[in-house]
Amino acid sequence: MTDIRYAGQEHVALPSESVLETLERVGVQIPNACRSGVCQSCLMRARAGDVPPAAQAGLKDTLRSQGYFLACCCRPEGDLEVALPDDDALGETEVSLTGIELLSPSVMRVLLKPEAAFEYRRGQFINLIRDDGLRRSYSLAGCADLGDALELHVRHIPGGAMSDWLMTGHGSTDSLRIQGPHGNCFYVPGKPDQAMLLIGTGTGLAPLYGIVCDALAAGHTGPIHLYHGARTLEGLYLVERMRELSARHANLYYTPA
Ligand SMILES: Cc1cc2nc3c(=O)[nH]c(=O)nc-3n(C[C@H](O)[C@H](O)[C@H](O)COP(=O)(O)OP(=O)(O)OC[C@H]3O[C@@H](n4cnc5c(N)ncnc54)[C@H](O)[C@@H]3O)c2cc1C
Repeated sequence: MTDIRYAGQEHVALPSESVLETLERVGVQIPNACRSGVCQSCLMRARAGDVPPAAQAGLKDTLRSQGYFLACCCRPEGDLEVALPDDDALGETEVSLTGIELLSPSVMRVLLKPEAAFEYRRGQFINLIRDDGLRRSYSLAGCADLGDALELHVRHIPGGAMSDWLMTGHGSTDSLRIQGPHGNCFYVPGKPDQAMLLIGTGTGLAPLYGIVCDALAAGHTGPIHLYHGARTLEGLYLVERMRELSARHANLYYTPA
């Protein structure tokens, strides 16, 4: 049995339980979203004790060296004292919602304007955080003509806490924050003649669209193959935009499927 100490209270972790699961079981709310070590919403800091390496996978070296870890993937082997991260480590930025338009009956193009400089690469993702702490991850899409706005492609999930809220227009009244960027999926200049194969389904197009735009803007000359799949025709979006891009760039091959 291991003990998790949080906010001055000790909680016994059940075998194979993650820190997130232990804290939730005893009624402590920790921000989280994907619960699989991707979105980094459940970032916590170990004040005492050792965290397993798997709980720090994907974190920046600076965070690792300060004992930060992901609560959803942390199955401790010994006692741990944990805390929520310092505000600086969270790297949150306030944003205003500047536009929502439908790209298809179920996919919204959501435009956000950061209140402070926000550096990112198209293809990475951010966590969008509502006033009440609800957070969901979204990929960063868009082309260079966006200026300093951020573009997300959000699929409306009927009844979904964040996407329903955005779809019904309530998002415009609340203050929003973003946290990130995260992820290593983006265009890296330097090999302009390399072939690129990009495959995604649904809103998986969002990061790929950003990567294609960046590659073309950087003068990529190698063939770029983009396959966008959906179970139904309605699941596809930006078809005309992609066809127009591929008509203008002989090395871009676009296949909606
Ligand atoms: C790294 C990362 C990047 C992501 N990028 C994007 C993106 O660019 N665009 C985007 O739209 N989403 C993206 N997502 C998913 C997104 O974070 C949310 O999970 C999604 O918007 C649903 O949130 P919600 O609050 O509306 O629904 P919730 O309230 O979380 O879910 C409501 C119900 O719908 C179900 N559900 C959740 N997602 C789906 C789904 N895709 N299809 C069917 N049922 C579902 C849930 O299981 C639940 O039963 C990404 C997730 C990750 C981890």
